[in-house]
Amino acid sequence: MGLRGMEKTKTLTILEGNKICIGDFFSLPMTYYSLRNLTKSYEDHHAVQDFSLDLGKGEFVAVIGESGSGKSTLLRMAAGLLAQTSGEVYLGDKKIESPEEKLVAGHDEIKLIHQDYQLFATISVEENISRPLLRYDAGYRKKRVNHLLDRLGLEAYRERLPRQLSGGQQQKVAIAQALAVEPEVLLLDEPFSHLDAIQKRKLIFELKDLLKEMGTTVIFVTHDLDDALWMTDSLVVLQKGKITQKGNSKALCEFPKSKYVARLFSSINLIPDLPGCYLRPADIRLRSRGGLVGHVIDQRFLVHYNSLQVRLRESGQVWEVDDPARKHKLGDRVYLHYDEEKVLVLKS
Ligand code: ADP
Ligand code: MG
Repeated sequence: MGLRGMEKTKTLTILEGNKICIGDFFSLPMTYYSLRNLTKSYEDHHAVQDFSLDLGKGEFVAVIGESGSGKSTLLRMAAGLLAQTSGEVYLGDKKIESPEEKLVAGHDEIKLIHQDYQLFATISVEENISRPLLRYDAGYRKKRVNHLLDRLGLEAYRERLPRQLSGGQQQKVAIAQALAVEPEVLLLDEPFSHLDAIQKRKLIFELKDLLKEMGTTVIFVTHDLDDALWMTDSLVVLQKGKITQKGNSKALCEFPKSKYVARLFSSINLIPDLPGCYLRPADIRLRSRGGLVGHVIDQRFLVHYNSLQVRLRESGQVWEVDDPARKHKLGDRVYLHYDEEKVLVLKS
């Protein structure tokens, strides 16, 4: 690792020691990377609307939203690769210029990894990673590439061409390429879509370690809550280009403000005769009498519990209910109970 990397590690440690409110990333004292009121409008709609987010140095934030919610548009503006309709991006006290303000779009300090990343097809893995380092001296270049190959478990593939790699390995090479110049900020646009769940988790752990060591500031966008949760506790929920809620993962799960946010974590069941009031399948208890009566109309074996579909006798609604004891079968009559404090009151 170069001197720059060591400095960053030191800064990161100091920063962590300075956090005034653990778990609440929005109260970090020192803003380093700042997206201010970013808006991108097309003829008849806003792809992103008035999006603001401040990150401290070395902070990780995940932006979650369904397909079409504006994630890619946001990251391209954040990287200075797409001109915003209004708003600003700052790194430290430097304004990040948009492609309309700058001759060559993009900035060395901010790297974006696209969903459809492109490697150079005719050169090896090693050459792909060292490509962005052509301006640096040969000794540093070699050391840096070896370090990245080692940290991302790519040593065995250094001589191969991209087409001789799996999708996941290619993805790692793209990440190594983006990290070669030690960017201050890394923006990841659904980067794990080519990986299965096990590979994905492994890569997330490797990557987190490496990025923490480098002190890199990270925004990770995804439609998959699980991926986000493996990466960070700090979440921003995007809906139709706007932030609908942000905070740490536990707070968002326990106190979602809308159905959209609640459904990121699990399905929800509407309580009969209580408009806007919902229960999660895990918060419903199965008892032998009292409560709401229903019948099991479907039962699925899942890894940690059985999932039941229960038709409520009175309202005819179908609820999804977790059965962790795996006691109930198709056709069983069940009695459903819940605690008042588990009721979610949600906007539509
Ligand atoms: P996501 O990455 O969350 O799937 P995008 O940022 O790609 O969402 O798109 C957000 C919205 O902006 C979508 O409705 C999309 O159709 C629209 N959009 C994206 N790019 C353009 C464009 N160049 N012209 C018009 N509309 C666009
Ligand atoms: Mg996208």
